[in-house]
Amino acid sequence: MPELSRRTLLAGTVAALGAPAASAIAAEPPAGAATAGIYRYKIGSYELTALYDGIWYRPITDKFIRNARFAEVEHALDAAFMPHDRLATPFTTLIVNTGNKLVLIDTGTGGQIAPSAGVLRDNLAAAGIDPKAVDAIVISHFHPDHINGIKDKDNNLIFPNAEIMVPAPEWAYWMDDANMNAASADLKLTFRNQRRIFSDIAKQVTQFEPGNEVAPGIVTLPAAGHTPGHTVFAIHSGDASLLVLSDTAQHPAVFARHPDWQAAFDIDGAAAVATRKKIFDHAAADRMLVTGYHFPFPACGHLIKTASGYEHVPVEWQTTL
Ligand SMILES: [Zn+2]
Repeated sequence: MPELSRRTLLAGTVAALGAPAASAIAAEPPAGAATAGIYRYKIGSYELTALYDGIWYRPITDKFIRNARFAEVEHALDAAFMPHDRLATPFTTLIVNTGNKLVLIDTGTGGQIAPSAGVLRDNLAAAGIDPKAVDAIVISHFHPDHINGIKDKDNNLIFPNAEIMVPAPEWAYWMDDANMNAASADLKLTFRNQRRIFSDIAKQVTQFEPGNEVAPGIVTLPAAGHTPGHTVFAIHSGDASLLVLSDTAQHPAVFARHPDWQAAFDIDGAAAVATRKKIFDHAAADRMLVTGYHFPFPACGHLIKTASGYEHVPVEWQTTL
């Protein structure tokens, strides 16, 4: 029997289908635009809206993982059908409507990271959410892909009526000029960006201690490592709950499957690994619904423990709440 190649398989399929009817090949202009990136679901009585901000293909080198040979990293990227020189880094923010408040968790890129990201505002509009109606912004940590969407590129507030709530240890670390002066040239850019975002709006910013509630049913949990004040969130309503993992792991195909890997962008790699394992063990054991800021859209699902790490199982898309 001849070997079945993809080409012969496709050719065979087309032949089996027969020639298309004339009406089926009428010219229809392509839409030429993407569809809205919105996914809505409920946690108890709270209505959540996952809003896609786009994707960045982060360039990576053989220094990307501090404690693994690059050949192993390439093997993991192959297993996930990913290129070797770029890490797929999608961005998904979350709006929580508690019934009394609209709370936005992290703000996307503000269109200031990559041309392939910055569609949060389009998706807010498609979801019927007015940025002026957002009461509070809660920030997980101060990397630019999480805070730049506070402002547009002209430094205007995108959510003008929102109180901006940030982790106190994150503010303490990044706003310390001694830390900025001691940082590498690359990291100095991160420090400067934070000053651009926060310096003229410091009065609108309030700091929370990780562990405290920032809104009814939204509890903050310390998750240091990726950055010193990195924070995750537990959202509770009725009997239901959701764990918002923030950047506990970036793309799950790489970092859930290989939880011991320390990324070059983690401030404290060993702490990032310990935090990841602790939180993922908890989520897997309790079969919790989780969402990750850099997980493939709509970014929510479950984690199961495997022999060597964890596997992310995405939710089934649903059209009813
Ligand atoms: Zn991030």
